[in-house]
Amino acid sequence: MSIGHFIDGKRVEGTSERRGDVFDPATGRRTTVVELASTADVDVAVQAAARAARAWRDASLARRSAVLFAFRELAHSRRDRLAEVITAEHGKVLADAAGEVQRGLEVIEYACGLPSALRGAFSENVSTEVDSYTIRQPLGVVAVISPFNFPVMVPLWFVPVAVACGNAVVLKPSEKDPSAALLLAEWFAEAGLPDGVLNVVNGDKEAVDALLEHPEVRAVSFVGSTPIARYVYQRATAAGKRVQALGGAKNHMVVLPDADLDLAADAAVNAGFGSAGERCMAISVLVAVEPVADALVERIAARVTGLRTGDGRRGCDMGPLVTAAHAATVRSYVDAGVAAGAVPVVDGRDVTPNGDPDGFWLGPTLFDRVTPDMSIYTDEIFGPVLSVVRVGSYDEAVDLVNASPYGNGTAIFTNDGGAARRYQHEVEVGMVGINVPIPVPMAYHSFGGWKSSLFGDLHAHGEDGVRFFTRGKVVTSRWLDPRHGGVNLGFPTQT
Ligand code: NAD
Repeated sequence: MSIGHFIDGKRVEGTSERRGDVFDPATGRRTTVVELASTADVDVAVQAAARAARAWRDASLARRSAVLFAFRELAHSRRDRLAEVITAEHGKVLADAAGEVQRGLEVIEYACGLPSALRGAFSENVSTEVDSYTIRQPLGVVAVISPFNFPVMVPLWFVPVAVACGNAVVLKPSEKDPSAALLLAEWFAEAGLPDGVLNVVNGDKEAVDALLEHPEVRAVSFVGSTPIARYVYQRATAAGKRVQALGGAKNHMVVLPDADLDLAADAAVNAGFGSAGERCMAISVLVAVEPVADALVERIAARVTGLRTGDGRRGCDMGPLVTAAHAATVRSYVDAGVAAGAVPVVDGRDVTPNGDPDGFWLGPTLFDRVTPDMSIYTDEIFGPVLSVVRVGSYDEAVDLVNASPYGNGTAIFTNDGGAARRYQHEVEVGMVGINVPIPVPMAYHSFGGWKSSLFGDLHAHGEDGVRFFTRGKVVTSRWLDPRHGGVNLGFPTQT
């Protein structure tokens, strides 16, 4: 039995013969296979969405909100089920999966109130007896392409907002953990969303390319690694589409000498090793402004040594990596760090997990004395590896952060308000935490990075999300009577 697609209101099989394996990362066992859609399968989904979009754009705001409220109730009452599905395919521990679901629910709640964000603007008498008003209209069919690391939250960054704005969606989740997206689509249908407004197509590059090229797809929201985000942005914009492509990250946490080192150490461990480092907002570099490094590394090491790595269903702190191949890649980065001369204060390669020996295990690794030329510093590892870089001053710290090609998230730990204010002003990063290590914006603000962490102009959800999924139109209107007659070829000006 394989996992198929959800098109036009029901689960369907596609025509493709190609399949991908889905694993339980904590046991290493293949649990199912997922269909990898062909271009023809994608076309079926997009055509269903195009048909549905024509009617859905005319559904009243009240009806759209009612569907979103009902969907919120279903997703909320079944949140434990969603968390279990996330843990079974991604591997993150159950408590972390529940947190992911909670952040996704917040976007649904934001979308329930979207009629107020969709209000236009009206100017009476822009000229005598002439009114002008702005309205925002849906785009039609939009594609959402999501990564493996947040199989619920990332689709929910986009789908509720797109649907509330009156669009129809084709969602292409990660082929590594496809089940949650299908549940969301089924529950949306149960909540009253008309058939075809939300479709899920499972697949890989072939499905993505088909979406990027399909003439009925008007916009693409993508989240994934930087090379693929860049590719998606270039290809889809060349095909005339509106694109927001969120990419990878290398997030720095700066610790100034006046910071509370115990609180900073707690934060570094939580943000570095939560979800086994497979978060785009994970802290992967700790910038210790001397003289704090020795004391900070000692505190972090004590905490990291106490972390329990194991099966996410067994109350552990940190789960496995998503696939055997990814675990091997991250392990090779640890090898490279040691070879380059970084000091492995805690070495995750030696871990004894509380779980099946065939799981995709790697324990938390803490490196000290990392320098910016090492691959553990330059590359996005996306695993439980925290690198400490020692610098001599605040200026050196901010220069280091700003030299990174990435600009997703960053944090500064300090009790000096002036220094924090300066950092927030000077740092070239899209999301900044002041004594907050993972500054993920709430749904009514917008999520997005700078530089190679986001290609496009608009960020996810909040005001930017509404702008992304709608087009502005300005109407100028006058109700004619005989006084308005007469020929005048001059350019219209207000009178
Ligand atoms: P990925 O780039 O491998 O995959 C993302 C999506 O692209 C998936 O749906 C996948 O099927 C598809 N894809 C993969 N290869 C492709 C190709 N050659 N052509 C077209 N499509 C392709 O990313 P991932 O490993 O699933 O997720 C982890 C990455 O996502 C990390 O780099 C992480 O930083 C990033 N991420 C970023 C954010 C953000 O908000 N900036 C959020 C979550 C994850």
